[in-house]
Amino acid sequence: MKNKDHLKLSDVGEFGFIARLARIFNQHLPKDVTGIGDDCAVLPWKGSQKLLVTTDLLLDGVHFLKEKISPRDLGYKALAVNLSDIAAMGGRPLWAFLSIALPVETELSWSKQFLSGWKSLSRKTQVGLLGGDTTRTTRAMVINVAILGEAQQIYIKYRSAARPGDLVAVTGQLGSSEGGLRLLLNKESKESSGRDEEFLLRHHFRPQPHLKEGYFLAHQPEVGAMMDISDGLDSDLRRIMESSACGAEVYLEKLPVSPALQRCSQKYGWSLEEVAAAGGEDYCLLITIGSEGYPDLDRRYRQKFRRRLHLVGRITGKKGKLVYLKDGRRVILQKSGFDHFKS
Ligand SMILES: [Mg+2]
Repeated sequence: MKNKDHLKLSDVGEFGFIARLARIFNQHLPKDVTGIGDDCAVLPWKGSQKLLVTTDLLLDGVHFLKEKISPRDLGYKALAVNLSDIAAMGGRPLWAFLSIALPVETELSWSKQFLSGWKSLSRKTQVGLLGGDTTRTTRAMVINVAILGEAQQIYIKYRSAARPGDLVAVTGQLGSSEGGLRLLLNKESKESSGRDEEFLLRHHFRPQPHLKEGYFLAHQPEVGAMMDISDGLDSDLRRIMESSACGAEVYLEKLPVSPALQRCSQKYGWSLEEVAAAGGEDYCLLITIGSEGYPDLDRRYRQKFRRRLHLVGRITGKKGKLVYLKDGRRVILQKSGFDHFKS
């Protein structure tokens, strides 16, 4: 056992670190303020309307590889991943702040394209840019985005609302972004790049925040907890388990995957289940549903979005235990979701 003073970030992990921050800063908060620990902070605003605030940082070499992503896609993605956190609470995005640290040798055309990618999504979602900061960096490029949004207090969905017996569902296919990332890092894929590869890369470069889905689901009484999938189902379901003091089981054969991911997994020898369960950056929504409520909710959801809500598991009373089942038999997953302080 290590002496406490010698513990490193890699020993406690990203989520252990966040838990420490929450312990310090969530004390003595006013009653109507939700601080660290969910997709957004929630603050009092206009009567029953609450203000949502989220911020996310993207670092060259960790969250993206500048040489491998076009500035246009990067601008789009920087905004998209932040909007996804507003979707996760069931809110509407309002305003954005962008801070960026660039090496001085960055070409002006790069920043122009970055902003044009950003603008294509900010126009679509009507999120105006109000400010931020710019500075030079001597090393990696850093992009930080903060978004303000709003939501009716009674419709905000938190991670802490899962209950044993609830079903677990996702609003989109899993693993496509991870497939795209693997292709980016994998040399052999370049020679045999085709439609499937393009599909996966597009998912990696241009994630679609599920704002309409999040807003709709927030208004459905059957939905308990909600969050977005940024670090992977494995990692993010554990966040819901922690906040709700429960456990979960996941049915691997039910994870929704795209045909493109299935074919590429075969072609490149990836474990499809591992990619789907642990791959990050899908930016669809992860929800829990009162067990009786699923058929009716799924019907209303299909009517509205012409797509299904995919059932992938169940919440259990076994606190802290995440179990994977395949056709009813327990399996051990090789890789778990993304943690910024572990490699
Ligand atoms: Mg999130």
